[in-house]
Amino acid sequence: MRALLAIVAIVFAVAVYYVANRPADEVPPAPEATQEAAAGQPSPEPTIGLIDDERIKNAESEPGNWLAFGRTYEEQRFSPLTQINRDTVADLGLAWFKDMGTNRALEATPIVVDGIMFFTTTWSRVYAVRATTGEVLWTYDPLVPREWGRRACCDVVNRGVAVYNGRVYVGSLDGRLIALDAGTGEKVWEVDTIIDRDRFYTITGAPRAAGGKIFIGNGGAEFGVRGYVTAYDAETGDQVWRFYTVPGDPSLPFEHPEMELAAGTWKGGNWWEVGGGGTVWNSIVYDPDFNSVYLGVGNGAPWTRVIRSPGGGDNLFLSSIVALDADTGTMKWYYQTTPGDNWDYTAVQDMALADMEVDGEMRKVLLQAPKNGFFYVIDRSNGKLLRANKFATVTWATHVDMETGRPVENPELDYLEQEQWVLPGPLGAHNWQAMSVDVEAGLVYLPAQDNPLIYGMNDEWKQTGLYKRNPGGWNTGLEFGRIAQLFLDNVDAQPTPKGYLKAFDPLTGRDAWVVEIPHYWNGGVLGTAGGLVFQGDALGMFSAYDKATGEALWQFNTYTSMLAPPITFEIDGTQYVSILTGNGGGDLFSGEAMDPVATPASETYGNYGRLLVFKLGGDAELPIPSPVDKSIPEQQLAEVSEDEIALGERTYNTYCAVCHGLVVRSGGAIADLRRMTAETHQSFNQIVLGGAYAGKGMASFSDVLTEEDAERIHHYVRARAHEDREHSLGNTDDPRLTWLN
Ligand code: CA
Repeated sequence: MRALLAIVAIVFAVAVYYVANRPADEVPPAPEATQEAAAGQPSPEPTIGLIDDERIKNAESEPGNWLAFGRTYEEQRFSPLTQINRDTVADLGLAWFKDMGTNRALEATPIVVDGIMFFTTTWSRVYAVRATTGEVLWTYDPLVPREWGRRACCDVVNRGVAVYNGRVYVGSLDGRLIALDAGTGEKVWEVDTIIDRDRFYTITGAPRAAGGKIFIGNGGAEFGVRGYVTAYDAETGDQVWRFYTVPGDPSLPFEHPEMELAAGTWKGGNWWEVGGGGTVWNSIVYDPDFNSVYLGVGNGAPWTRVIRSPGGGDNLFLSSIVALDADTGTMKWYYQTTPGDNWDYTAVQDMALADMEVDGEMRKVLLQAPKNGFFYVIDRSNGKLLRANKFATVTWATHVDMETGRPVENPELDYLEQEQWVLPGPLGAHNWQAMSVDVEAGLVYLPAQDNPLIYGMNDEWKQTGLYKRNPGGWNTGLEFGRIAQLFLDNVDAQPTPKGYLKAFDPLTGRDAWVVEIPHYWNGGVLGTAGGLVFQGDALGMFSAYDKATGEALWQFNTYTSMLAPPITFEIDGTQYVSILTGNGGGDLFSGEAMDPVATPASETYGNYGRLLVFKLGGDAELPIPSPVDKSIPEQQLAEVSEDEIALGERTYNTYCAVCHGLVVRSGGAIADLRRMTAETHQSFNQIVLGGAYAGKGMASFSDVLTEEDAERIHHYVRARAHEDREHSLGNTDDPRLTWLN
C-alpha cells in the first residue's frame, strides 16, 4: 500500500489539479424516442444501392465505399485511397464532428455506402447520417433495458452494423438481432438470440452478412455462459443453423456431432453449470473462396482450468479458430491457439484473410493476433498452422511447437500454488482493436500491448476444493475478492504496462518499426495506399504515421481517448477519414492511471463520445475542454473496525471493481466513487440495493448483496476516498490512514 501511496502522491503533485465531478452518465431516452426523424427540416430519403454478396466480393472496384466491417470480406482494413498521403497529410483537418451524447466508450466501425454512413453508439443505438455533413437521416434505439448494463463485462458498447440487401442489422446489448430498413430505419424483424435469459448474455459485436444469412454470436463468459453462433435468414430472421462452441450438460444429447468431439476434451468437474465459456463476441469472418465462416472463440468459464475441467484436456473449442461451412454450420477444421485456456486468452480478435506467399508457395491464409501473444498464420484450405511468432512480451509459454501446433507452457508461471504475474494478462497482447494488413508490404499494423495480471486461485477453492457458481457476478475462478491486496503485495515485481503500434512481419516475427505509446489501451488501426497508418490513442492523439518508417507525419488532439478503428472513404472526389472517440470497454477494471505520463486524455479532460470526420483543408474545430476536477470531497467517516473495511474491500472487488475500478479509482467512463456528493452518499443503499440509478445502467445488486454488505462497501469506499484525499493534501499522519494497510 505504501508503494502505491507514494505513486499516488507523485501523481497528485504532477497532475493538473482537478475540480468537478465527471459528466453524469447519459440519461435513457423516453420510450417514444425509439424512432425519430432528424431534428428540423425533413431529409430526403437516402438512396443507397443494394449491397449484396457480389458487391462486397467486388469491393475493390469501389474503394470510395466502406462496405463491410473490415471494408471487404477479407477484413484487411487497408484502403486503396491515396488523396490523403505522405505529401498531403499535413493539410488534413477536421471537416465536421458530431457529439453522440455519451461519455462511455464508442467502438464501432462505420459502414459507408453511396454517401450514407451507418454506425452504432452505446446501448446499441444505430445512426444513419450523411457522410459529408453528419446530417442525421434516421436513428434507431432498441431501448435496451438499462439494468443490462450490469450484465456487460466490458461496458455498454457496440462495434457496428452490417448493411446488406437493403437492410441494416444490429445486435442489441440484451441479445436481440434486429433488421432495419436501410432507407428509413424502421424495424423489419427482430429475433431473440439468447438461449437462457437468466444468464448474463450480451451482444457487442457487429453481425456479419453473406449468402443470404446473418451471423451473430455473443459475450458473457466472465459471468458464466455457454458460447454459440447462430446463422439467421437475412430476409425473414428464421434460424438456419446454430453451432455451439463448448459442450453442454453431458446428461443431454449432443446438439451436433462436433460436440461429441469437443466433449471428449473436457474431463471431470461441472463446467456446464458455470457455462464453459467459448463466447464468440467479436470476430466472425466470411470467406468467399471456400464458402466458410470462421469463428473466433473466446475464453473458458471459469477461467481456471483446474476448476473448469479438473481431469485436464484441451477443452475444445475454447480459444480456437473454427471454420464452418457457411450454409450448413458443419465444421471443416479448427485450430486451438491455447489448449486448456487458463488465462482468459480469447481467440476472438479480428481475423484477416489474404493470399500470401509462404515458403515459396502462394497460400490462402488467415491471420490473427489473439490475446495470447502469438501471431498465427493459418492455411484456410485445411487449417494447417504455418507460423506462430510472438508479437509482444509473452511469459506464459516459451514458444509454439510447429510440429504439433501446440504452445509450450512455462511451468515456472503456473499459478496453482503461488500467485504469479503473467504476460499477457486478460486484456491480452492484442484485444478487439482491429489491426490492418498491408499485403504488398508483407506487414501487419498492429495495436499491441504488454499488460500483465497477477493470477491467483480462488481462496475458497484452495481451502475446500469446491467452487460454487456465483449467478450474479464474475465466475473466473481467480481470487478477484482480494485482487487489490495481491496486486499491492506484489507490486514490486509487476512488469510495466505499455502500448505499441507495431509494423509486424507475420512470417518472420520481426518488427519493421515500433511506436511506443505510454498507455497500453489504444485504438484500432487503418492502413492506406497513401502510405499512411492511422490510429487514435489513449492520450488523445489521432495520428497518421508513415507506413514505411513509423514516423508521425500528422497529429490531431481530440482531448479524449480512442479505441475505435478509423475508416476512410471518398465522396465526390474528396477522401475522408473518420473515427469514433470515447474510452472504456474492457479496461474499466484497471481504473485510473497511476503514471501521469500515461494518463489517458479521457481522465484528464473527460470522456467524449464523438464522431470525427477529416478531409484535406478541413477547418472545423473541437471545443477545448478544461481539465476535469479530480479533487476528492471531505469524507464523513464512521467508527468502524479494520475488519469491516477489509470485508467491504473484498466485496467491492468482487462486484464493483470491474466497472468502478481497482482500489476505487475510476478510469473515467464510470462514476468515480471517491467523488460522490453528499446526496449520493445519502442514497448509497437505494442505489446499490434499490436500483435508484438503474436507468443509468447501475442496476440493483440486491440479488447478491445484503444491506450489511452495502454498508461495508460504503465504509471501504469512504476510507479509500479519505486516504487519497489526505495524501493529495500532503497529510500523511492521520491515524485513520492505517486502516487500509
Ligand atoms: Ca474474457
